[in-house]
Amino acid sequence: DLQNYAADAAHELRTPLANLRAELETAIQEPSRVPDPLLVSLAEEVHRMTRIVTDLLTLAKLDLRQYALRKERVELEPILREVCETWIPIAAERKIEVSVRECASPASVDGDPVALRRILMNLVENAVKYNRDGGRVDVSLRRADNTIIVEVGDTGPGIPAEHLPRLFRRFYRVDQARSRETGGAGLGLALCKSFVEAHEGTIAVRSVEGQGTAFTVTLPAERGML
Ligand code: ADP
Repeated sequence: DLQNYAADAAHELRTPLANLRAELETAIQEPSRVPDPLLVSLAEEVHRMTRIVTDLLTLAKLDLRQYALRKERVELEPILREVCETWIPIAAERKIEVSVRECASPASVDGDPVALRRILMNLVENAVKYNRDGGRVDVSLRRADNTIIVEVGDTGPGIPAEHLPRLFRRFYRVDQARSRETGGAGLGLALCKSFVEAHEGTIAVRSVEGQGTAFTVTLPAERGML
């Protein structure tokens, strides 16, 4: 069926893309020549395609319940701090401040650390990428009842209300032209949603045009914590 088809297609594209990438890298690193700008730009495109194909494969496997989540007790604070650290220097180039406002500790969930990290990476990346220069990204980690709540808020341009219901769909971009420039394929939030749901959690968005956007991820707290 369609889900198998997507998984098979993505899987089949991986090998030729990996070969292409390896060949380009060898050509670029050829010591006798200066790197050809065309090859460098091709390598970037191949890198982008590889990311899209990898994300599609992950989504298809999650749909088919063939994605092996390796669940363990995961403490979210260190992951959240590490994700923010990754984006701080990139954000600083545009005078955007990334900070952890509130941090409940311990805040642990029963989850796959790679998937959880990816969710937070995507949200903080978007909050930086779509922000305005000189803006802010405020992250918080809270505990409420039997849940852990992560919020990533930004002071970016906001998302017009009519787009919000479709925001988590695959390949959905608010501003098609501008988004393509920034490199996104519109799979990031779809992947976040699939990963969050694979952890029995929910993801929601609030946005006010001209003021900013906030994404909220709610996950069941790890049982040992209750
Ligand atoms: P992309 O790879 O294009 O970033 P995503 O699935 O992560 O794809 O996001 C989908 C679209 O939602 C983006 O193209 C962008 O238009 C919009 N978007 C996501 N996060 C934000 C944000 N924090 N502020 C404004 N727009 C956002």
